[in-house]
Amino acid sequence: MQNVLVSGASVAGLTLAYWLRRNGFAVTVVERAPAVRPGGQAIDVRGAALDVLDRTGILAEARQVRTRMRGMAMLDAGGKELWRTTDHTFSSGRLDSEDIELLREDLAGLLHRQAVDAGVEFLFGDSVATSTRRPTAYGSASSRGRPARSPSCWARTACTRRSGSWPSARRSSSSATSAPT
Ligand SMILES: Cc1cc2nc3c(=O)[nH]c(=O)nc-3n(C[C@H](O)[C@H](O)[C@H](O)COP(=O)(O)OP(=O)(O)OC[C@H]3O[C@@H](n4cnc5c(N)ncnc54)[C@H](O)[C@@H]3O)c2cc1C
Repeated sequence: MQNVLVSGASVAGLTLAYWLRRNGFAVTVVERAPAVRPGGQAIDVRGAALDVLDRTGILAEARQVRTRMRGMAMLDAGGKELWRTTDHTFSSGRLDSEDIELLREDLAGLLHRQAVDAGVEFLFGDSVATSTRRPTAYGSASSRGRPARSPSCWARTACTRRSGSWPSARRSSSSATSAPT
């Protein structure tokens, strides 16, 4: 079984980890926060993303925790209502659609649970410190010196990259996933 190290336990990392595990990879997620990070505003799930939630087994629960917006109103600076609608909101679009608006932390919580249930390993409060190239694989060590399972490849999923804080991610020739550079 190939080992994969995923850096970042947010929406992208958790989803990637779950699906890699489901497809036979041994997955370790390393997250620098002490737990899956809470917070964030509403996220809209539309179109193909609804199918992804369904296949990930969390569509019904996502519907249960949706924000249930009932409309919106625009006020002037003095608080006087200028207009009101119950058809749509700026954040969630049309309210009579199948789309789901839910809080980011609710989505992350559902994805985390699915990943745990699927057998993904998590290392919280930690991050990848080094990446050592080998003839056929890449090794890594956490910043605390705890060795993760020696990965065949690893994927970085955080959007923001601070110069110098990430080792460059490479793609293993035998890997089924692409690692961003
Ligand atoms: C707490 C939080 C709240 C957010 N709120 C909103 C919002 O309200 N609206 C919005 O549009 N977008 C928000 N975002 C951004 C949104 O989550 C992303 O744009 C989008 O979901 C893509 O997520 P991602 O998984 O690619 O990256 P992110 O959500 O950015 O998650 C990256 C994860 O990687 C972890 N990480 C970063 N560097 C390292 C490292 N060196 N080692 C280990 N782990 C690392 C971070 O702690 C984080 O958990 C938020 C992100 C976070 C983390």
